[in-house]
This record gives sequence, C-alpha cells and structure tokens, in this order.
Amino acid sequence: MICNKKHRYLKEYDKLPDAQDNQYGDRHICAGCAYEEGLRDGLAGNTPQRDLSHLPFSQAGTVRHKDAKAAYDAGYAEGRKRSS
Ligand SMILES: [Zn+2]
Repeated sequence: MICNKKHRYLKEYDKLPDAQDNQYGDRHICAGCAYEEGLRDGLAGNTPQRDLSHLPFSQAGTVRHKDAKAAYDAGYAEGRKRSS
C-alpha cells in the first residue's frame, strides 16, 4: 500500500528527524499517516501504538524519509494536548 495523500500542509513534519532503520522496520512508512494516526489515538486517549506496520508506505513529498515513529509520537502528543 502506497500513500497517495498530500500531507504537505503540516509544517510539523519539517521538524521531524530523518528516518533510520530501527527495530520496527518502519523506515518507509508514511510519516504523514503516522502523524495522523498518532493524533487520532491521542485525541481518543488510546494507548500509544508501537507497531505502525499497518500504515501505508510513503511515496514522496515533505514527509518522505521522515521517522514514522517520531511522527506518530508528535501527533500523539498534539492529540493529548488538544483533548485536555
Ligand atoms: Zn500518508
């Protein structure tokens, strides 16, 4: 699955670290989708996810080669902030 969304409207992505291989193997996962997933979980008060492998791969754009886990965590933190 390849992400076809445009996530470029989110400036937060520019601040995210670049992707590196890690134990979750999520290097190619779309950081934009990861951010949105984290935001959703944060708003809903869900337990943060560790496994992001169900998310689509990134194709291009600002979020390319960004760390999906860092993106998820950033989205999650934002979600918690908004819901409090
Ligand atoms: Zn995406």
